[in-house]
Amino acid sequence: MQEFRSEHLLRCIHCGLCLQSCPTYVEEGSEADSPRGRIYLMRAVFEGRIRWDVGATEHIDRCLGCRACETACPSGVEYGLLLEIARAQVERSPARPALQRVVKRLILNLMAQPGVFAFAMRTARLLSPLFGERALPAPVARMLGVKGVVAQLPPVQGKRESLTGVYPARGERRGRVGLLTGCVASVLFPEVNVATIAVLQYNGFEVVVPRGQGCCGALHVHNGFPDEARRLALHLIECFEREPVDAIIVNSAGCGSTMKEYDRLFACTPHEARARTFAARVKDVMEFLAEAGIRVPDRPLKARNGEHELVVTYHDACHLAHAQGVRRQPRDIIRSVPGVQLVELEEADMCCGSAGIYNLLQPEMASRLLRRKIERIRATGAEIVLTGNPGCLAWIAQGLRELPQPIAIMHPAELLRNAYESRESL
Ligand code: SF4
Ligand code: SF4
Repeated sequence: MQEFRSEHLLRCIHCGLCLQSCPTYVEEGSEADSPRGRIYLMRAVFEGRIRWDVGATEHIDRCLGCRACETACPSGVEYGLLLEIARAQVERSPARPALQRVVKRLILNLMAQPGVFAFAMRTARLLSPLFGERALPAPVARMLGVKGVVAQLPPVQGKRESLTGVYPARGERRGRVGLLTGCVASVLFPEVNVATIAVLQYNGFEVVVPRGQGCCGALHVHNGFPDEARRLALHLIECFEREPVDAIIVNSAGCGSTMKEYDRLFACTPHEARARTFAARVKDVMEFLAEAGIRVPDRPLKARNGEHELVVTYHDACHLAHAQGVRRQPRDIIRSVPGVQLVELEEADMCCGSAGIYNLLQPEMASRLLRRKIERIRATGAEIVLTGNPGCLAWIAQGLRELPQPIAIMHPAELLRNAYESRESL
């Protein structure tokens, strides 16, 4: 069990350079909802000056875990680590009602099992004419103390495709990679996995998808349940240890950042060395392809009216930009697709409000951030928004559905696959 250490907390020199990158501070203007304010609270708990009570936990709950503050911090504060420790402490504290803790954990456990989650999603869809489109039924929201659920049930594609097995390289073979298919992502966005396999094949990589991978533990560790996260992570490590691969490819930012930090999750446990070896092999798909060098598609993609370049924009998923430092690689790949013009998005690396299950638990702040993101997307004039995380894909798609002018959203791997296969992107 990780606990606060003074050297981590004292690294914050209170300079405030992180404040303007923090979405909750920008929206609220309150020090307690800034990185500096939250670290101050954590330090007060560590030094025994306060306890996790309802007032203090509110500010930890309102944090998105986006880690924009880490990017901005000149002092090297590992805010993501501090938040994981704080969240685990909050979940164990009397400040968290037992019912809320149990219900939250049940929801996370349901999401972590793709078969069960797919069944639950299909059932909720079937019953939506009776119970509505909300992602959380009203009684569950009440048990979690959530008022005004705004997240809607995402559209679920028909039958979930089973992608286990080995997919051969096309053309000259350049290596063998493994693919994480994910839990929530494999249910809500199976097409992203199909496209990821295809772009790796087109670039000469054999792709192996181990059976029964399950969940990487990201949702659990981000929400204060590190023991469950370790159990899931250990199973995933064992799945991939059986496969001799050059890299483990991930197309979900939240999963990738957690998997790259497995050494931290398993710190001071007998599995630390294994976890470090595993973590060193994890690559985001765009990061991997940019390093390997991609085969440029032969044919250009076309805009909706077919007369000009296809204008796209790119939203940085927080756990790709801030937690993994992967910003340039997706942009380079997008720009290399013939016929595509990439227009930069204002505040591209500001959180959209999705943040795992944040949009379920903190609907008010999540909605404000979604509106902010959608306004900026509209201003680019793009026909497609690209982003590398399933949570962002689902949440931004919900905001885009309300626009009079259609704007599509997809993973960059889907855009690249469409270009290789001369498919229409719109
Ligand atoms: S993780 Fe994001 S929301 Fe939380 S303090 Fe840092 S910048 Fe603010
Ligand atoms: S977290 Fe970093 S940037 Fe923010 S106040 Fe502390 S030292 Fe300054």
